Amino acid sequence: MRYSAFSILSQALKGNTGWKPVWREPEPKAEYDVVIVGGGGHGLSTAYYLAKNHGLTNVAVVERGYIGSGNIGRNTTIIRSNYGEHGNIPFYEWSLKLWEGLEQDINYNAMVSQRGVLNLYHSDAQRDAAARRGNTMRMHGVDAELLDVEEVRKLVPNLNFDNARFPIYGGLFQPRGGTVRHDAVAWGYARAADTRGVDILQHCEVTGIRVENGHALGVETAKGFIKAKKIGLACAGRSSQVAAMAGLRLPIESHVLQAFVSEGVKPLIDTVITFGAGHFYISQSDKGGLVFGGNIDGYNSYAQRGNLPVIEEVMEEAVAMFPSIGRLRVLRHWGGLMDMSMDGSPIIDKTPIDNLYLNCGWCIGGFKATPASGWCFAHLIAQDASHEAAAAMRLDRFATGRLINESGTGAQPNLH
Ligand SMILES: Cc1cc2nc3c(=O)[nH]c(=O)nc-3n(C[C@H](O)[C@H](O)[C@H](O)COP(=O)(O)OP(=O)(O)OC[C@H]3O[C@@H](n4cnc5c(N)ncnc54)[C@H](O)[C@@H]3O)c2cc1C
Repeated sequence: MRYSAFSILSQALKGNTGWKPVWREPEPKAEYDVVIVGGGGHGLSTAYYLAKNHGLTNVAVVERGYIGSGNIGRNTTIIRSNYGEHGNIPFYEWSLKLWEGLEQDINYNAMVSQRGVLNLYHSDAQRDAAARRGNTMRMHGVDAELLDVEEVRKLVPNLNFDNARFPIYGGLFQPRGGTVRHDAVAWGYARAADTRGVDILQHCEVTGIRVENGHALGVETAKGFIKAKKIGLACAGRSSQVAAMAGLRLPIESHVLQAFVSEGVKPLIDTVITFGAGHFYISQSDKGGLVFGGNIDGYNSYAQRGNLPVIEEVMEEAVAMFPSIGRLRVLRHWGGLMDMSMDGSPIIDKTPIDNLYLNCGWCIGGFKATPASGWCFAHLIAQDASHEAAAAMRLDRFATGRLINESGTGAQPNLH
């Protein structure tokens, strides 16, 4: 069923009785050409591009919970391509371009809103770093503007300019960055993949990966064994656990990242803002709630809720930056499992096991990568060769030293 102004009108006249389920609920087949483990944004987009770009439609996405229950439905919705490393910038910029055409491509309103992303700086040294990053972005054809404090004041007048503990010196602005409604991305890709024949198997946890003589043969699931010619792992925060089912030990740690939404208020912030004197960022959803977050909890965990020290830190930074929101009530708060890699950059690669492919290491920023990640992972699985945009995102870089160390902090996930 195609969505259009006409379909909305005709459904309105029929009392909205003719809408079809957005995807089917099929029983698993005995065998697929490709099984993708993990029905998050990356797994679903991979399935969609396998069908669309490579004509592979005998594909299943196997999800332990329901579609949207992982990080794809838990993130703070920011998209941007303000990266600084060669292995990352072209990839994230291409992903941003894919976002720009995504809604037409998948015929789904994902509320892509290019309202800009502003990274504040609070010292001369931070201004130099912002200028360097902005120049690197522009050399790669990415939009970037270095704003002084007066330009920032015009853009966001209610920031704390006058009595701030960390005075604002200016900001690096990417006008094409912004937000996308996160769960709509999962639903849109699920519907588009299903339309092309992909089976989406919800509540079907993978409990084992059958490997014989170095070949992956299929997955053990809550609904029985499913044979697969190829298996792609896209399990985000549970990547290490699932890869361990095939005997692999990944350079990944799982940490919780928390998010917060306030009660709705009138329009206050019409861009995305990050605080440079701590780890804090904020935007306003179309419903009016302020959406914000900060750093990961500093210990390994598989719990999807976080702890008080980070909550306190986030609230302190919120009020330091925007004193006027100090009396707002927080309505919702949750956590998601982050697959933190040791250089802060992702992995899209084959594994040492034949027919087993890996997509993980997205740290705190994989939502913005959803379209390009799926495109490149589908390419890898279908062609058995890396897509050029993801060529640097190799698993063996931690052994060879060819790291993509975006933040220069090394193996310290809490600093990425
Ligand atoms: C609070 C928070 C804020 C964030 N903010 C941003 C942001 O603003 N911008 C940004 O770019 N990124 C952000 N991120 C990161 C981003 O959400 C993730 O990097 C990205 O969503 C990960 O990819 P995914 O969507 O495929 O993950 P997920 O949606 O987590 O998908 C993985 C899926 O695998 C499934 N799975 C796991 N184990 C099994 C199994 N054994 N069998 C079957 N299925 C299994 C899980 O249930 C899950 O559904 C944020 C994350 C969080 C938690």
